[in-house]
Parts: sequence; C-alpha cells; structure tokens
Amino acid sequence: MIVGAGPSGATAAACLARRGWRVAVVGPRPGAVARGETLAAEARSVLAGAGLWELVERLGRPCHSSWSVWGTPWPHRRDPLAGPWGPPWHVDVGRLTDALLDLAVRFGARLYPGRARVGRGGAPAAVSFELDGGQEEVTAGFLLDASGRAALGARAFGASRLTVDHQVAVTTWMRVDSPAVSTLVEATETGWWSTLADAGRLYLNYFTDPDLLPRPLALDAELRGAPHTAARVRAAGRGARPRLAVTSGSVLNRVAGCGWAAIGDAAATFDPLAGMGLHHALNSAVTAADAVHGALLGTEDGLDDYARSERDLFHEHLRARRRRYAAEGRWADRPFWRRRTRRVVPERPARRPVSLCPC
Ligand SMILES: Cc1cc2nc3c(=O)[nH]c(=O)nc-3n(C[C@H](O)[C@H](O)[C@H](O)COP(=O)(O)OP(=O)(O)OC[C@H]3O[C@@H](n4cnc5c(N)ncnc54)[C@H](O)[C@@H]3O)c2cc1C
Repeated sequence: MIVGAGPSGATAAACLARRGWRVAVVGPRPGAVARGETLAAEARSVLAGAGLWELVERLGRPCHSSWSVWGTPWPHRRDPLAGPWGPPWHVDVGRLTDALLDLAVRFGARLYPGRARVGRGGAPAAVSFELDGGQEEVTAGFLLDASGRAALGARAFGASRLTVDHQVAVTTWMRVDSPAVSTLVEATETGWWSTLADAGRLYLNYFTDPDLLPRPLALDAELRGAPHTAARVRAAGRGARPRLAVTSGSVLNRVAGCGWAAIGDAAATFDPLAGMGLHHALNSAVTAADAVHGALLGTEDGLDDYARSERDLFHEHLRARRRRYAAEGRWADRPFWRRRTRRVVPERPARRPVSLCPC
C-alpha cells in the first residue's frame, strides 16, 4: 500500500507493480497543475536504471542556461555540463507524476483517489480511505508513506519530523513570449529568488523566513532588491495569484521500521537552493522499492541501509547548505543569512508553528 500519489508515490508504484506485487496507491492525482521544477542531472542515473528516464526525456526539456547572482551584484553563468550527467531538466511535475501513475496502472497497480487515514499500531498497517462516498479499509503487507511533509504513515508508526528552519516560499507564475529554457537564482538581504522560464511560462519563487515576509505581502516592493529577477518579471505578463508554501528543511527521526518506510518529502525535505527535492523523491522511491521487494520476498532486508542512507544524505546536505549560504557574504549579519550559516541540529519544531499568514 502506498499513501500519496505525488512523484515519489507514483514512482514506487510503477517500480513495485512492474515486479508483480499487488500495489494500491491512495491519494488525489496531481493533474495538470502548473508546477515547473528543475530535475537535477544526477536523477538520470537512477531513473535510467529503473527504466523511467525515457519519460523525463519525453515530457521535460534540458536546461542549458543557468544563472546565479550570489556573492556579487552581477550574474554568473553556471556551467550545466560541469557534471557527468549533462544538464538539469525542466519538468512539469504534475504531468510527470500523471505519466508515472499511468505506467503503474499499466503494470497492474490500483489507484484510489481518496484521502487516507492510517491506523496506529504495529505492522501490517490498516489504511482506511473514502471511495465514492463510502469508507474502505485495506490491511497492507507493507506501507510506503509518500504523503509528503504530512508523513501520516510514518507518524502513525511513531516517527516524528525534525526541522532545521522555518523557510517558506511565495510562489507564482506568469506568461512569457520567449519559449527559451533558463533559470536564475538571485540573493537579496532577506532571502533569495528563483525564476524558471520554460514553454511560455515564467515560474517565480521567493524564499524567506515567515517573520521576514512583508505584511501585507507585496512582491513588487521585495523585487526592488533583486534587479535581475525584476527585469525578467517586467518582461512577463500578469501573474497568477501568489501562493505560500512551506519549504523548511526537515527529516524524520525514523525513516523506516517493521512493515513501513517513508519516501520523498515524507522522509526528508531539503533546502530548495540544493535543487534536489524532486531528484530525492524519485531516487528514494526507486531505492525503497528495491528494499521492499527484498523484504517481502524475505531474501534480503535493505530497509536498514535505506534508512541509514537517507539520514546520511540529509546530514551531508546540511553541510553543503551551510557552505552555499556562506558563499553569499554581502548580508552575513542579516537574520536570514545568519540563521543559515550557523551549525544547526535537526530538532522537533515548537508546538505552536510560526504563522504563515502573510496578512
Ligand atoms: C515552491 C517549491 C518549489 C520547488 N522547486 C523544486 C525544484 O525546482 N526542483 C526540485 O528538485 N524540487 C523542488 N521542490 C521540491 C519538490 O517539489 C518536492 O521535493 C517533491 O514534489 C516531493 O515529492 P513527494 O511525492 O515526496 O511529495 P509531494 O509532492 O508532497 O506529494 C505527496 C502527495 O501525498 C498526498 N497526500 C497527502 N496526504 C494524503 C492523505 N492523507 N491521503 C492521500 N494522499 C495524501 C498529497 O496530496 C500529494 O499528492 C520545490 C518545492 C516547492 C514547495
């Protein structure tokens, strides 16, 4: 049983159903949401191994133009061919996930578009969900939690989420005439901007901390600190209504246990500066699906290794994150930058979460 039909749930469903397991996925289909994201080049290796890279090539576009305004007021070009895997790719996450779910169904997986509730207690897990107005309950031999930050399966098994910051993103998109594929990252005193242009759309994200958000929310005023991003926005049409999203870094204190494992954002979330959230969602799904296959056959149990590699990845990410933020020295004494250049230890968030309301 897989809870969550996002990128990680869809990938795990395709991998396990292809191996002949009876797979049920509970969760709303993402549909054609406007959500352009960059898929790190490293994803190619693991997706090609799982026979899924062809989908990315069909639905995405390689990005050969990446710029960053970081540490200096002028843009630097980032060489997309610097690594062995070629350039990163732009994908519409909704379309990619839909295609992965279609593939899973072709291999025999069943989709239940309701919202799941996971019963507490030991394995195997009881998952209940609403279907056509009625309540269904399935007792699963193994539960993969792909429910994103909610991590409702892992929490039912007693795991809890540890966080390293409270970062949020204000996100919107607008139409642009140019079909060119390119990205720009630009640092400001209170956070950083990312823009991604692809197929006539400009996706705009502003990352900051909730206590630094202007109230009421006025992106135009904030853009004055980011002249290169502002120039791209001026050349675009009217934007969609901005949305607020939580983008804090976090990891579960336990990523897998007897009869369950968390994948994708449910297991760990990374600072978007690393651009590895989607790669991690797909990669962790493929790796965990391998481990679940072995555990269900009783031949080898790779779940401990999987859990360890998730923890190691997150701690390596924290070290890299600190180095990346320290490379921007222009506002080293300002709260946003000070918070990210000190050593942090993942901890349980305060009971009362920081208010996200921008008004
Ligand atoms: C603004 C923003 C920009 C980003 N940009 C990038 C980028 O450019 N590159 C990149 O690599 N990453 C990026 N990310 C991160 C990336 O989107 C995520 O890491 C990735 O989508 C995680 O996939 P997932 O399947 O693990 O989780 P999700 O995409 O969160 O999917 C979880 C699914 O579970 C479902 N669910 C939740 N509760 C239940 C329930 N009770 N019952 C059933 N289903 C449930 C949800 O509806 C959802 O469909 C960005 C994130 C944000 C917020």
